[in-house]
Amino acid sequence: MDINHAILYSDRITTIYEDVIHKFNHSAIVYPKNNNLLAIYFIHPDLFLNLFHDKGGAIWNRDYGIILSLNKTLNSSFTHEIIHSVTLGSPDSKCVNIPFWFREGIAQFYQNDLNNGYFSIEMIKSSINNKLIYSFSDIINPSLNTQYRSFFYNQSACIVGYLIKVYGESRVINIFYSNGDFYDNLQLVTGHDISSIENMWLDYIHSL
Ligand SMILES: [Zn+2]
Repeated sequence: MDINHAILYSDRITTIYEDVIHKFNHSAIVYPKNNNLLAIYFIHPDLFLNLFHDKGGAIWNRDYGIILSLNKTLNSSFTHEIIHSVTLGSPDSKCVNIPFWFREGIAQFYQNDLNNGYFSIEMIKSSINNKLIYSFSDIINPSLNTQYRSFFYNQSACIVGYLIKVYGESRVINIFYSNGDFYDNLQLVTGHDISSIENMWLDYIHSL
């Protein structure tokens, strides 16, 4: 990838970074390695599409850092990607086999939460009405062009929000930093297997 380095500074970016580091209590791998810089690249939307074949416009990459398309809303996109970097890209990340819904759900949940964004229960309800709720085992990396992509992210954020509400923020966050398989770690925190959790979540959604 041919991208020049730049050093940028913004108070809002610093605040988001500090909020996330404080909440997750673990640091991200920094890029370029060994110089304590967190690399954030801003690139043209066409270049983003060419490089990543993805209309999402924001990506965290283990080798390069955070890459944002210039047409994205900076605060929420940056929040989402910095959360990937402290959960999936922390030197302390120990959990393996983290499913799509948890990886994206936690980033999407805090993207909304830390930016006073809305959390769309209405979208979840309309998803139910339109039979767009996916089973947990089907919430895998969605086709990037699917029109239902926002439903995947919203449903994933809703599931994570439910887990945080019931089991507490620190226990849910700590799953990333616990040794072992994701579903074993989740069972240690909740006392339930994934199919029970799914049924409990569905009951919760229907009760809203
Ligand atoms: Zn993401």
